[in-house]
Amino acid sequence: MDKNYDVIIIGAGPAGLTAAVYAGRAGMKTAMLESEAPGGKMIKTDLICNYPGINEITGVDLSMKMFEHANANGTQYLYGNVVGIEDQGDFKLVKTADGNEYKAYVVIVATGTNERTLGFPEDEQLLGKGLSYCAVCDGAFYRQKDVIVIGGGNSALEEAVFLTQFVDKVKLVIRRDVFRGDEIAQRQVLNNPKIEVIRKHLPVGYLVEDDHIAGIEFENVETKERVNITADGVFPYIGAIPATEFLQDLKVLNDEGYIIANEELETSVPGIYGAGDVVEKGLRQIVTAAGDGAIAAQNAFQYIQNLKARD
Ligand code: NAP
Repeated sequence: MDKNYDVIIIGAGPAGLTAAVYAGRAGMKTAMLESEAPGGKMIKTDLICNYPGINEITGVDLSMKMFEHANANGTQYLYGNVVGIEDQGDFKLVKTADGNEYKAYVVIVATGTNERTLGFPEDEQLLGKGLSYCAVCDGAFYRQKDVIVIGGGNSALEEAVFLTQFVDKVKLVIRRDVFRGDEIAQRQVLNNPKIEVIRKHLPVGYLVEDDHIAGIEFENVETKERVNITADGVFPYIGAIPATEFLQDLKVLNDEGYIIANEELETSVPGIYGAGDVVEKGLRQIVTAAGDGAIAAQNAFQYIQNLKARD
């Protein structure tokens, strides 16, 4: 198999899939490396209501539409968990965990973010045993049960509302007395009789019974009083960590691990671009990720044209 490309896009969320559409339409030989299903975080989202032109669409449907669009423009979709990029000057070598190496003039990194865990010793052990980061995937397991959702951002608020179609009760626990998420999401939460909002409490540990989650121990941030809140399931939505470990050596990351890129979305390494949630920026939305994908791909095209004109 020929492993040489004009452009390699890492990550198949909205940024990567849009970059693939633009790169393909610009006639570039394009490969996309992804280690999970296409769609990124969209695939774990129930309903998307803020993508222009579409009042309402499920995350799965929008993911599939973008994936089909990228394929229709000639993108080669490859399975691969990227572990490193070697800068060889005009070419970049992309290495995957299974030992494969792919070469391209340009790499667009659109790997997004991963869920931040609570940081307790049982984080891994309890996955699938009451602990989940995906209400869309696992919500139906909690029919007529109680669940805890932790966090006050858009993800927590939206998923708390989503879960109410299955569960008896959502205990939404936030660490401040105000939410971080949008006004409209806040209103939906506050108007939902199945959601109880518990403010000013920080999680301090899991309650476990028979190797399954039984709830969370919380601490009141003011009084320091501890309280056990019981539930059959726990859904932490406490933010995200950029998926950039494989970029550590290239010195293109800020202190939090997000990619530093200029307006063209090029990093300090010529030929390596960032796009979407993984880039240092103010607004992380599907539409801004898609915009980034278009910008990165268009600038990649110009970059490659300049390289070829030089030779
Ligand atoms: P986020 O906006 O960073 O919110 C994280 C929430 O978790 C905050 O309320 C934070 O509390 C809380 N938190 C953090 N660490 C905690 C801890 N150790 N214990 C308890 N609570 C903790 O994260 P997100 O909701 O995942 O959203 C990520 C990005 O995607 C955001 O830019 C968001 O706007 C975007 N997004 C948009 C949509 C949409 O537009 N429909 C949907 C989903 C996500 P504090 O508020 O006190 O810091």
